[in-house]
Amino acid sequence: MNKTPLFTLFAILCVVLTACNAPLPPTSSGSAPSNESQPAADSSQPAAATEDHSHAGGADSDHPHTSDVDLTHLELGDGKYSTSPQAGYVYSCITQFNGGGATGTGSWMNGDGTWDATKKAVVDGSVTWPSSFTLSLQGGQRIFTGNDLPNHPTGNFPVDPGDDAYAVDRNPNSIQEQSITLSLPANPTAAAQPNCVGGEVGIMLSGVVIFSAFDAEGRDAVAHEVQDECDGHPQISGFYHYHSLSDCIEDTSTSGHSSLVGYAFDGYGIYGYYDEDGAEVTNDDLDECHGHTHIVEWDGGMVEMYHYHATHEFPYTVGCFHGAPAVRALSAGEGQGQGQQPNGQGQATGPAGTGQGQQGQPPQEAIAACAGLSEGASCSINTPNGTVTGVCGAPPNSSQLACIPAGSNGGQPPASTQP
Ligand SMILES: [Zn+2]
Ligand SMILES: [Zn+2]
Ligand SMILES: [Zn+2]
Repeated sequence: MNKTPLFTLFAILCVVLTACNAPLPPTSSGSAPSNESQPAADSSQPAAATEDHSHAGGADSDHPHTSDVDLTHLELGDGKYSTSPQAGYVYSCITQFNGGGATGTGSWMNGDGTWDATKKAVVDGSVTWPSSFTLSLQGGQRIFTGNDLPNHPTGNFPVDPGDDAYAVDRNPNSIQEQSITLSLPANPTAAAQPNCVGGEVGIMLSGVVIFSAFDAEGRDAVAHEVQDECDGHPQISGFYHYHSLSDCIEDTSTSGHSSLVGYAFDGYGIYGYYDEDGAEVTNDDLDECHGHTHIVEWDGGMVEMYHYHATHEFPYTVGCFHGAPAVRALSAGEGQGQGQQPNGQGQATGPAGTGQGQQGQPPQEAIAACAGLSEGASCSINTPNGTVTGVCGAPPNSSQLACIPAGSNGGQPPASTQP
């Protein structure tokens, strides 16, 4: 499928439509991105080719929680997507991942289908941002507004050539302020059947969107992509995001069950790594959507309800939606335009899971393609190069469904536009 005509279509329409808001330039109140800038906790580290970070561990020494998970041998989740709910997999709406080409291979790959989270490179830096994030309950809905800028520091993006992470992942994108308005059911109910996930799965209490476990190629994003100290990085339109629980989101529970750390797009809570007995949760403890049901703290009370858990095991947070997702994506998808290969030729493709144009609004053609159809219905858009098929979904700030091209780059610019 040639994606360029679709992007061109989106781009032209976004120029025409005043509703297509251009992303605001990034604002940093902290140090300017610089190769010299290091987070305090990192300052004693040698500039080794591979830094030894235990930040993926969640093994805080002041935490009585316990873990039997071996972070040095985590199973790679590459290609672990399914077309029906399956524990340990992502039940993915997207089964054609168009990312291509070889990528750098991290020295933290063990070569036996496992990887070592304690040896993974990290994008260095400590840039602070004017984060804006509000949460409120209104008429049975939980309303989120925010700018997707985190309430914690980030690494320097684009990745600096002097950063050890650059050898593996040359993420050329800059973090940019976004405009998020999201309404999720405050008291979600189970769907008749679990629902597939697109490119994104929820929003975290740091104000940052969390993506599925996959990168643009259907590989384990947490294992292959290089993130910063807070486990995040920007995609092609500047959306800072995680693929796993950020170490910079505090689990305020010091024993027993973890605290709430975010919300999935079906409205159910995402909790930290630990279960009621204080032991780390593994896939064996969770169902096909990566959750389970018992009494948890919810809006100030104790309620028996379904919830997801973050794990160090793939798929990390949400494997499918237990309820009906109010939205499947806020951004234009992963599409990091990453120059991951040594020759710097990045791929701008990604699991889009969204019918939105790059700048927040779907083009009229995409909306028209879903006229009279319901969410999840198959749809097609005619382009000068042929028919593009996809699935109808609703953008966050619109009740109108739009056609999400299946396995497309979600209307992102081709890699050639990236630095
Ligand atoms: Zn580092
Ligand atoms: Zn639990
Ligand atoms: Zn990513």
